Amino acid sequence: MRMKAVVIQEPRRTGLLSIDPPQPGPGEVLLRVRRVGLCGSDLNTFRGLNPLVRYPRIPGHEIAATIEALGAGVPATWRAGQTVTLNPYTACGACSSCRAGRANACRENQTLGVQRDGALSEFACVPHGKLLAHAGLGLDELALVEPFSVGFHAAARGRVAAGETVLVLGCGTIGLGAIAACALRGARVLAVDLDPRKRALAAELGAAEGFDAGAGLEAAVRERTGGHGPAAVIEAVGAPQTYRQAVELAAFAGRVVYIGYAKAEVAYETKHFVAKELDILGSRNALGEFDEVLAAFAARRFDPLKLVTHRVSLDEAGDALRDWANDPNPVTKILVEVGA
Ligand SMILES: [Zn+2]
Ligand SMILES: [Zn+2]
Repeated sequence: MRMKAVVIQEPRRTGLLSIDPPQPGPGEVLLRVRRVGLCGSDLNTFRGLNPLVRYPRIPGHEIAATIEALGAGVPATWRAGQTVTLNPYTACGACSSCRAGRANACRENQTLGVQRDGALSEFACVPHGKLLAHAGLGLDELALVEPFSVGFHAAARGRVAAGETVLVLGCGTIGLGAIAACALRGARVLAVDLDPRKRALAAELGAAEGFDAGAGLEAAVRERTGGHGPAAVIEAVGAPQTYRQAVELAAFAGRVVYIGYAKAEVAYETKHFVAKELDILGSRNALGEFDEVLAAFAARRFDPLKLVTHRVSLDEAGDALRDWANDPNPVTKILVEVGA
């Protein structure tokens, strides 16, 4: 038996492969892949802008699947037919992050579809320790757990607390996850994006108010915060301008969290760092937030499926990446339906 897999052969060229399915080794499970969410990092791989990727590469790390077979030594908590998602990161266990209990920021981290082949295919094998399940969640929801976990981690890094005002710059998938997390923590969320459609999504996920990213933003934010600025700013764009805005807009003694990778060097007015005594924090991947997100989805605190703007089949996934690269604005989340 052969399986189909979508491969990015080189920047801007995809292919549909027919290859042998993987065999589960000891401690591994064979998954029948059902849904794969396409991520901004997959788009960057397609565009040739992801420095961590070597080609050819099978992308895909936002996964919902059913367990097809168990390798030797997999505990009986897992059984064939069970619906799961997974943590797509692999940490080294030895670096300073890992030893500090922060494996999400592992120096040697390998993410499925980035440093190793992903799951945009009919079958995939993963170690059983990576699996996550929650009864009552559907395939579409399970495929959205990882990107929401990244946003939830940013809220945790920013120590966002009830009653605070938080500014989130950028309402893409990760920014929207951060908005949902901050709202669940009881914060008042101000959401910023150029696109009114994305500001409307932000409101659905719990933002109190949305703002255009253009001129007048600074005055509007000051006005909404009694002149103080937000207690925390979460940057989820990755542009030099928003990197700077974050420190300019944050309140004195506030926190700034960066999730986006800035694609160019950023020039700063550094006086804000010291005069405001800012906590400036990076936020990478996710740690315990997977369980938080599963619980939030199961409690139906908000509807994560609002993010899904496009659905395609596995055969169409390569074209979907190309269309996304050519016209990114209409896309929030593309779900690849690998199997029913
Ligand atoms: Zn992702
Ligand atoms: Zn490590």
